[in-house]
Amino acid sequence: MAEREELRQRIIDAIDANRDKIIEVAETIRVNPELGYEEVMASQLIASNIREQGYEVEKPLAGIETAFRASKHGRKDGPIVAVLAEYDALAGIGHGCGHNLIGASGLAAAIGMATVMDDVPGMFEVIGTPAEEGGAGKIKLEAAGIFDDVDAALMIHHAGHQSFAATEYPSGTCLAVNSFVIEYFGKPAHAGADPYNGVNALNAVIEFFKGVDALRQHVTMETRLHGIITNGGEATNVVPKYTRAQFSMRAPTVDYLREVMDKVRNVAQGAALMTGCEVKITEGDLHYDMRPSYRIGKTYNENMAAMGIEINVDPERGMYSTDFGNTSYKLPSATGSFAISHEPIPGHSQQVVDASGSDFGYDQLIKVSKAMALTALDLLLDEQFLAEAKEEHANWGALYNG
Ligand SMILES: [Zn+2]
Repeated sequence: MAEREELRQRIIDAIDANRDKIIEVAETIRVNPELGYEEVMASQLIASNIREQGYEVEKPLAGIETAFRASKHGRKDGPIVAVLAEYDALAGIGHGCGHNLIGASGLAAAIGMATVMDDVPGMFEVIGTPAEEGGAGKIKLEAAGIFDDVDAALMIHHAGHQSFAATEYPSGTCLAVNSFVIEYFGKPAHAGADPYNGVNALNAVIEFFKGVDALRQHVTMETRLHGIITNGGEATNVVPKYTRAQFSMRAPTVDYLREVMDKVRNVAQGAALMTGCEVKITEGDLHYDMRPSYRIGKTYNENMAAMGIEINVDPERGMYSTDFGNTSYKLPSATGSFAISHEPIPGHSQQVVDASGSDFGYDQLIKVSKAMALTALDLLLDEQFLAEAKEEHANWGALYNG
């Protein structure tokens, strides 16, 4: 059996040899942004390139047209390590979250791992996970059982000017999020002639937002409550019979988020009671907070440094949310966060669109993709490493959230 150093070198050489192809895929996706569940070109481009590397590809996956799973068996049975590839864009911005790089990293890892799987136990997979930006792609794939047999999941994601894999709590954690669509149903009346016969759905939605403002004082610092009114009535001379709001709630843990959601639901119902309206509350997909595997993060970080990425920070909790959080509650999961810019840049911005197509951004993509593939190799080869990651995962809440 080949030595680990030799296997590592094969991965690095294969990714280097295919550098142009990997960057071309990233650039094609960047300049042709597709929204969640509409990533027809991107998912096809990545999946077909991975198929050429000798992988078995299932697409569509779990009934989702733009999802796929590519798998390659090792020399004997063993653990399953998956790389998750996102490739959706943002409405109105394009690839303002750099998911073109994440998609291409799936191809890069597949190219690298294809050269070693004959000498490695287990299975390597690339799972194409659509619609990260509000479409809950990973949550739908998880519900369909796609992650049931996976032992560990790896990703990359740009982090502006910062590079790190999380190695210590609370680095790499983020906020759980869910949303409500809140509709109030009142009764129309002439606003001048007989307003006393009306039931005012606008008052209800205004009281809801006022009630939430009172609630803000009694939630924890990291809680976020934010929303918009999407229908506030039709005409000033008619008592509004229908209004609608979209509302989001974020909290540092999914358990606390559930408590906050109960409070917000009570406020919404209270506003209905105050005004005599009926209320209908439609819940969105519950996105869990992220529980990063710090055990995997330590090795991932070493691999990133070994590939020439300058590790510059191991920051605090991120005030964002992702469907990767749900995956992280199910199995050990780690992200290689990497710089695409030398200067700080805002998230979800044109600067990210530009930086994720820059020479530096593509250089970093190649390096972090190697590090991700090398970490996958470590997980497949080193039983002790995977066992430690699973042990940490099983005790994550007790270890870090106390
Ligand atoms: Zn993103």
